[in-house]
Parts: sequence; structure tokens; C-alpha cells
Amino acid sequence: MEKKNLVILGGGESGVGAAILAKKQGYQIFVSEGKQLSDKNKLELVEHGIDFEEGAHSVERILGADEVIKSPGIPEKNDLVKKIKEKGVSVIGEIEFAYRFKGDSRIVAITGSNGKTTTTALIYHMCRYGKLNCAMVGNIGYSFARQVATDPKSVYIVEISSFQLDDTLTFRPDIAIMTNITEDHLDRYDYSFQKYIDSKFRITMNQEAGDYFVYCSDDEITKQNIDRHSIQSKLLPYTMKEEPGIGAFIKNDEMKIRSEAEQISMSIYDFALKGKHNQYNSMAAAITGSVLGLRKDTIRESMESFESLEHRVEKVGTVKGVEFINDSKATNINSTWYALENMSKPTILILGGIDKGNDYEQILDLVIEKVKVIVCLGLDNKKIHDFFSPHIARIVDTVSAKQAVDISFAFAEKGDVVLLSPACASFDLFTNYEDRGKQFKQAVKEL
Ligand code: ADP
Repeated sequence: MEKKNLVILGGGESGVGAAILAKKQGYQIFVSEGKQLSDKNKLELVEHGIDFEEGAHSVERILGADEVIKSPGIPEKNDLVKKIKEKGVSVIGEIEFAYRFKGDSRIVAITGSNGKTTTTALIYHMCRYGKLNCAMVGNIGYSFARQVATDPKSVYIVEISSFQLDDTLTFRPDIAIMTNITEDHLDRYDYSFQKYIDSKFRITMNQEAGDYFVYCSDDEITKQNIDRHSIQSKLLPYTMKEEPGIGAFIKNDEMKIRSEAEQISMSIYDFALKGKHNQYNSMAAAITGSVLGLRKDTIRESMESFESLEHRVEKVGTVKGVEFINDSKATNINSTWYALENMSKPTILILGGIDKGNDYEQILDLVIEKVKVIVCLGLDNKKIHDFFSPHIARIVDTVSAKQAVDISFAFAEKGDVVLLSPACASFDLFTNYEDRGKQFKQAVKEL
């Protein structure tokens, strides 16, 4: 069969990964990046002899493709994407492309509004601990395509966002995990929550009877939507409410896992990851480990030895009795809810940035209960002031991490905690959430 002529839209990690895999498979490839490529990515394309452009798209050439692989960052509504589709050219994502070449490896795919990276990293740690030949791909580490091209494995643990799911057609995880669904990214889904939910459920759409769907049955949205999606795989719920016949359950501080193969119990005090949300993530990981056939001791020991991730309810340190916590990764209201729920001391909350459609009502009770001061860290804080000023006496504005830390520290008394959990994206003042978290930590060090 004659090899196809592929165009890759977007030259980030997923685009370059897809290009390397496509090259290896003998495709003709053209990478088109509308902005500027990073030096590293450009160099890689040159080294692999891959044709590319940057700064603009050559529309005619792109429309001549047999298939287009687009970056998840480019929305469906993009004019160029619309034109490509109108011409009848298939548009897929890098995950779908990599999937075609995965061979007989097994796939564990993790999606959800919050907790994806933590759960992915914990499952990866567990699999490595159990000596599986595995890789963690997606948002952490390499793109799936690059991993398949350069270092194929028997098990891929894939973190997958709703945008990436939108660009899949045949992708079928052996184990699919849905951590939870809360309103996020609605700007990409015509402000329809249902469209976003349906997009998340695409993770199950090709699953078959021998596959598994691991989900949080305490998450009302997930639960309500399961029946809409005629899921063929075996359902493995995890919950803290009612003991399921099969799945995972936490009651009286004890986790019980019951899969077809075995039963495991473990005290939650032995989990390396603390906090209620992490108990959910730990349950998801433990059932997955069990389905993958890992030994009980491997599952238990790996959950004890996992080190938590930067920027996720990360303890930065204590200065003069005031504790500082970096939860910069909290870019939506639900993450902030969990962080606040976890706080046992009077809290100074650093909130704000680019609001992606937050409903602050969701955290109001916790804020009233725990928060003494709100320190806004963003360019436009009107919504926060309007919503919280009837409830919280002190709300101040800041425009840098340093200023936010200094002001928070000035308000804090011994025994308080300063929590950076902004519920918003960071792009108004920072490069990304990592940058925001790092600047926060640096400012704490300078106190
Ligand atoms: P994601 O990769 O989905 O963005 P992360 O694991 O990076 O998720 O965590 C992002 C934020 O969400 C962190 O602030 C963390 O405290 C919070 N979080 C983690 N797990 C959960 C969960 N199961 N439910 C709600 N919030 C969570």
C-alpha cells in the first residue's frame, strides 16, 4: 500500500512525537506550526529529516493531505480545521495515531476533570514497582507517539484530556479510568456541560466486554451519565458511600479492593498520598493494579512509597508558625474545593487568575468555615470581590506571587495556613501553573 501523505498541525510535544512515529512508519510528513517552534523541537524535526513550516499555515498544501493529525490545543471550530473537514480529509489526534502502532501492548487510560496526573503517576509507580515493562505518557513525560516510536513498552499508562479524546476514533483502553467530572474548559464546548461530559465518556466508546471501566461512583455527574453511554466494559466503581460488590471502598479508614481475582485491604494511614481526594485517586490506582495482575504486596508497598507531585497540595514549609501550601495546579473550582476541604487550620486563600467559568457557590461553605482572608492573585478580580465580599471581610488584590506571599504573611498569625489554590488558570500573570507555583515557593523562601 502506498504510504499516506500526512500533515501534522502543531509542533509541540505531541506533534513532534507524531512526526517521529510517522517518519519511522514511512509516511510522507509535513509539520505546520502557526506560531514559532521551540528550538528543541525544530532541531529534532531537522535531525529526523522532517519537512516543516512555522509562523503560518500553507493552506493549499495542508488541504492536499490524506490525513491530518492535529494538536489537542487547536479547537474543532478553528477555520483551518473546518476547511480540512469540509474537504473530507480525516482529522485525528496524536493519541489515535500512536494507538495504531501500539502492537499487543495494554493500555491504561486516565481521564477526568481533576486528579488525572496524580492517578497516572501513582499507577505508573505501581507498575514499575511490580516490574512491568511500562511507560507513562500523555501530559507527563513523552507523548504516546514518541514513546511508541522510540521505546515501545508492554503497558502504556496514558493521561488523556477531553480535547485529546475528541480526536480519537478507534482508541480502546483495556482499562479506562474516569476520576470525576466537574465543569471545566466549557469555552471549548459551546458552554455546554453535557458536551464536555460526553467528550469525557469517549474514553469508553470502543471498549469491549473484556475491558474495564474504573470510575468514582460518588461523583454524581459520572454516575448519572453512565447509562447514556452504553458501556460494554466491566464496571469497577470506587466509593466511600456504599460497599460495591466489586470495585473499591473506603470505610472506617480502611480501603478494600475487590476485583475478580482477589481482595486487598489496607489502612488509609499507610497511603503516601494524603487528603480525601487522594484517597479516591488511590482507590482508582489500586483497583487498576489489581486488574493488571499486580501482587497484593506490590500494590500496598507502592502506595506507601509514592512521592507526591509538585504543585498539588504541596507543603512548601512553615515560617514563624505559618504554613505555606502550593496547590498552583488547582485551576478550577473543584480542585480548590478539595484543597480547602483538607485544611484544618485558619486559612488565607490565594485565589484568582483567568477564570474559566467558575461557580464560586461551590466553595462558599468551605470558605465561610475556613478562610479568614482572600488574597486575589490576578489581573481581573472583580468576580471574586463581587461574590465573596458579603461573606469575607478582607479581600485584597495582588499582581505577583511575591506580593501575594508577603501580604498573606502579614495577615497570618501563628497556626494559620497560607494556601495557594487559585481555581483559575495562570496565564494573565505567569507562563503556566508551574511558573506560578515556583514563584510562590521562591517568595516563601525569601520571607
Ligand atoms: P489533573 O491532571 O487532572 O489536572 P492533578 O492530579 O494534577 O489533576 O491534580 C490537580 C488538582 O486537583 C490538584 O490541585 C489536586 O489537589 C486536585 N485533585 C487531585 N485529585 C483530585 C480528585 N480526585 N478530585 C478532586 N480534586 C483532585
